[in-house]
Parts: sequence; structure tokens; C-alpha cells
Amino acid sequence: QGAIAFRDVHFAYDPERPILKGISFEVPAGKTVAVVGPSGAGKSTLSRLLYRFYDIQSGAITVDGQDIRDVTQKSLRAAIGMVPQDTVLFNDTIAYNIRYGRPGATDEEVMAAAEIAQIGDFIRRLPDGPKTKVGERGLKLSGGEKQRVAIARTILKAPPILILDEATSALDTTTEREIQSALDLVSKNRTTLVIAHRLSTVINADEIIVLKDGLIAERGTHEGLLEQG
Ligand code: ADP
Ligand code: ADP
Repeated sequence: QGAIAFRDVHFAYDPERPILKGISFEVPAGKTVAVVGPSGAGKSTLSRLLYRFYDIQSGAITVDGQDIRDVTQKSLRAAIGMVPQDTVLFNDTIAYNIRYGRPGATDEEVMAAAEIAQIGDFIRRLPDGPKTKVGERGLKLSGGEKQRVAIARTILKAPPILILDEATSALDTTTEREIQSALDLVSKNRTTLVIAHRLSTVINADEIIVLKDGLIAERGTHEGLLEQG
């Protein structure tokens, strides 16, 4: 469930400066495809197009064979869990921010998700220092901690499709390894699009797409791309 296809996708924020110049690839249901490439190549743009923050100018993006322009934004987004580069949190408790992933979740389910993402200790706290509620202590979250809130939210939401955009980039190496194994667990059997800078972080991907200047420069497996250099 959740097979994704990008077909000859063209996109520009500014008509004078095309960002994606005809991108075609598929993420088969349940598989993981990673998009790597230098900064500015258009990687995050691809993930934003799939989530329909913007509409493409030509070509098509389909989910389970259906053009994403033909489904409501609400149902499209309900099927996708997005762990963005920069997570913006609601000014409410961490628990509230996690529950946003699935509003009907029980406290136990919220806690379980928080524990997998290793933020179980502070779910009653608020993300930003000064605005504390009675009996609660504020907490200034680091970029990595915010990312873990986004990961916990996604674990709770358990959508068929995952978009991980540099999902562990703001974490230190030890935490990154721990979170990576949590993410591997979440992405198992889900259709996953991973956006990454470095080839070394996407060893487990079924296919790797190398994006350069808005085009697919190379594609293959981790080993295959390493052999080519
Ligand atoms: P990557 O994720 O590969 O680093 P992005 O997809 O974020 O690249 O950006 C690709 C290009 O599009 C960059 O040159 C960036 O400056 C530009 N860009 C990104 N977002 C916007 C935007 N909202 N408006 C205009 N240009 C943008
Ligand atoms: P919705 O349509 O339900 O408002 P969006 O699809 O606009 O949500 O937002 C994309 C994702 O970004 C949401 O799933 C949520 O995780 C997060 N998000 C959106 N707005 C906020 C916000 N103001 N604060 C924190 N997270 C947000």
C-alpha cells in the first residue's frame, strides 16, 4: 500500500529558474528509496511536492496509481508521515505535540511513541521555556529533540507512507544511531522516501537516486554506487 511514482516531474519556484527538470522514479509499496545529492539539488522540494505544499508544473505524482491532484489534501496527508528538517512545534506540551499525529491516541500510546523516540522523560513539558502552565516546567528543546518529537508523532500516526527529510541530521552521532534504529523499525514495510545528504546514511535503502541540478544523475544500490565511486 502507498506506492509512489514521480513521472517526468518539472517544478520551479521561480519560472526563470527550474529546480526539477524531469524527474521519474518509483517507490514501490513497502520499499525505501533514498534521494541523495548536493545541497540545493532539489531533494527537499521533491518531498514537499509529494506532500502537496506546492503543485508541480508538468508531469505527475501518483500514490497507488492515483494522481495526487485528484485526492483531497486532507486524505493525501493522512496517508503520509512527514519528519521534516525543521520541525515547528505547537506551543503546548510535548505530549500534545505527539498526539497531533493521531488525536484519538490514548496516553499510553503517546507515551510508548515518546519512549521509542527517547523523549519519554519530558512529555509533560512545554517546548519553549517561559510560557509554563501550572505545575509544568518549560523546556527549551534542541533541534534534535524537536526532531524526536516529530519522530514520535509519526510513530503514533503510523501512516502507510513516510517522508524522512534529513530526519537524523540534527542529532549527535550516538543519538543518531539510536534514532536511526527506531526509524528503521517504523519504516519497515512502509513506503518510505528518505532525503539525505550523504550516501553513508542510507545503507538500507532499496534504491538510491542521486539528484544533481534538477536531474537524476545516477541511480542504484548503495554497493553499486560505491563501486562506481
Ligand atoms: P536540497 O533539499 O537538495 O538541498 P531544496 O529542494 O531545498 O534542495 O532546494 C532546491 C533549490 O530551490 C535551492 O536552490 C533553493 O534555494 C530553492 N528553493 C527552495 N525552497 C524555495 C522556496 N520556497 N522559494 C524559492 N526557492 C526555493
Ligand atoms: P494539518 O493540515 O493537519 O494542519 P499540515 O499537513 O498542514 O497539518 O502540517 C504538516 C505536518 O506538520 C503536520 O502533520 C504536523 O505534524 C506538522 N504541523 C503543521 N502545523 C504545525 C504547527 N503549527 N506546529 C507544529 N506542527 C505542525
